[in-house]
Amino acid sequence: MQTNFSLAQLADPHVAESERILRKCVHCGFCTATCPTYVTLGNELDSPRGRIYLIKDMLENGRPADKEIVTHIDRCLSCLACMTTCPSGVNYMHLVDHARAHIQETYRRPLIDRLTRAMLAVVLPYPSRFRAALRLAGLGRPFVGLFEKLPALKPVAAMLKLAPASIPPASPMASPGTHAGQGAKRGRVAILTGCAQSVLDPAINETTISLLTRLGVEVVVPEGEGCCGALVHHMGREAAALASARQNVDAWTRAIDQGGLDAIIITASGCGTTIKDYGFMLRLDPAYAEKAARVSSLAKDITEYLAALDLPEPVRKPGTIVAYHSACSMQHGQKITRQPKELLAKAGFVVREPREGHLCCGSAGTYNILQPEISAKLRDRKVKNIEATGAEIVATGNIGCITQIASAAKLPVVHTIKLLDWAYGGPKPEGVSDAKLVAAE
Ligand code: SF4
Ligand code: SF4
Repeated sequence: MQTNFSLAQLADPHVAESERILRKCVHCGFCTATCPTYVTLGNELDSPRGRIYLIKDMLENGRPADKEIVTHIDRCLSCLACMTTCPSGVNYMHLVDHARAHIQETYRRPLIDRLTRAMLAVVLPYPSRFRAALRLAGLGRPFVGLFEKLPALKPVAAMLKLAPASIPPASPMASPGTHAGQGAKRGRVAILTGCAQSVLDPAINETTISLLTRLGVEVVVPEGEGCCGALVHHMGREAAALASARQNVDAWTRAIDQGGLDAIIITASGCGTTIKDYGFMLRLDPAYAEKAARVSSLAKDITEYLAALDLPEPVRKPGTIVAYHSACSMQHGQKITRQPKELLAKAGFVVREPREGHLCCGSAGTYNILQPEISAKLRDRKVKNIEATGAEIVATGNIGCITQIASAAKLPVVHTIKLLDWAYGGPKPEGVSDAKLVAAE
């Protein structure tokens, strides 16, 4: 694609990067076929190609964002299916991240939208605030119907509908410390405790630590870790996202200096995509560029790490049929497609893949709150495809997808690690009935 940026514009490294990306796009439109918003809405401006044109026009003319571009960029899920499909290697992720930051800087949103976004940014990344907000959600639940009738309050209704009725207690295993591996030492890793997942389902990381230590891997929960920054990053709040990235880079660098790390284990693929991008996000910061690149190179999804471990034979031989839902951040963001399915199959599960597996479930960070209508359409489509597999359980590797799919599916939805842990001798995952998990021992 031809571009027309001035030399002065290209002196801004963010613009220069976007220009490089734009020039790779050959307008072929292959990406439209796999874009969930184009498939759902049928509008070229809600396709990757349409958004690329809008971003190009906004950046080239150096003008503030307007309502039209904000509407179409806000509808983008950042699912990155377009990057998987694109034959020209267009890095849509970095382009849309730049556009979102530009929108945040130059566009004044309506008051309720501003307040909703500000509230999400100051609550979700902080487990204690998020836990308190979930407790308060019970008070608002009787008003969901009313909020749904008022367009500006639909995000509040969506939030209340997604909030679980009860919240598990905080996990002691999330506190800083070291969990020693059993038997011969096979490695030393740090684990991201994260934010929303540690509140909604702390058992995911507890299970991960339990399985890793049984396999002989020492697991460190470093002091000073926090939210990966993805939630605010996708809202264009660059300063907050970079502050989170720096905080985590510092925490993991200390852990590396104090005994080395083979990997930084991440159990929510949405976080994994962002942490693997820290090297890019902090490339312009001389104090952090190198450290951030090192952290990104060590970041591994738990299934990526386990697949390279040479696991023993499972303790149980489950025959359970599992529908594997590959989160967008797993398959498109990190290109991890094989490992979770192979691990489940090796552990004795019968793995089925739903149709249209490339399409987002509509969760996408805060998307199911900020764009509840499109999100619900994508969720229902996803659940229909999952249920058509005839599976007894759904497995996936991202807390956002778990919450989203479970809000409409009749099947139990669990993190992949819980099924693997069970097959390798751990307890049955909570919420899964005995009838669903059958082991021929
Ligand atoms: S990230 Fe997803 S929703 Fe956004 S343009 Fe690409 S395919 Fe479409
Ligand atoms: S597939 Fe790639 S090159 Fe083709 S229009 Fe989409 S982004 Fe551009």
